[in-house]
Amino acid sequence: MTEDERRVALGAIAAEVRDCTRCRLHETRTRAVPGEGDPSTEVVFVGEGPGFNEDREGRPFIGRAGDLLVKLLASLGWQRSDVFITNVVKCRPPENRDPLPDEIAACSSYLTRQLGILDPAVVVTLGRFSMARFLPGAKISQVHGTIRPADPETGARNALVLAMYHPAAALRTQAIERESFDDIAGLPGALVASRNRRGEAPEIGSPPATIPTIVGAPPTIHSVEPADIDQLTLF
Ligand code: URA
Ligand code: SF4
Repeated sequence: MTEDERRVALGAIAAEVRDCTRCRLHETRTRAVPGEGDPSTEVVFVGEGPGFNEDREGRPFIGRAGDLLVKLLASLGWQRSDVFITNVVKCRPPENRDPLPDEIAACSSYLTRQLGILDPAVVVTLGRFSMARFLPGAKISQVHGTIRPADPETGARNALVLAMYHPAAALRTQAIERESFDDIAGLPGALVASRNRRGEAPEIGSPPATIPTIVGAPPTIHSVEPADIDQLTLF
């Protein structure tokens, strides 16, 4: 797909999302939040669902959690416009409650289709609900900061997943904020590793434009099967 074709296809999904009534969250939303970013990016961030500010503006991660996400990206020399940012559910759960299983299921195909168009090299999951989609059965305290292959069923047909805590959790707890900066430091290495798996040579000037030189050992890709991940939760 050309960049223009991706832009048009993502725009068509966004238009569907804005009119969507597939689950009860449409009744209480102000605006749906389809997601935004560079249609040619290699890196997609997936959060949980819109909060108060996002619901008012129709854009993802623009409140305090978004400010922290921008700082995390800045620690790599990246900007939010270098990546694509979206959520598991596209409409705000009332009072910022957790999204319910039937709401996640109703919204699921939009994210799958977005990932199919973007074909990212790396998916960064922010928080438990996003992680659960890409690494079913995993525990965030055990997998944050690690890199694992994405299940192609998610729509990300050839991607590595970097699991991170949700920025809102980092805002509540300083230790988690520090760990989030450590975890995102693994993102450029994950991108290089994924390009290698995909057989893609990095293009000069391809977005994100400024990937720092990787010093030291390449990242470990944990090639666990979903069954192994399930076992992780037993301990
Ligand atoms: N939290 C999320 O998970 N997503 C947003 O878009 C904003 C806050
Ligand atoms: Fe539709 Fe998703 Fe919004 Fe539910 S959360 S109304 S499925 S866009």
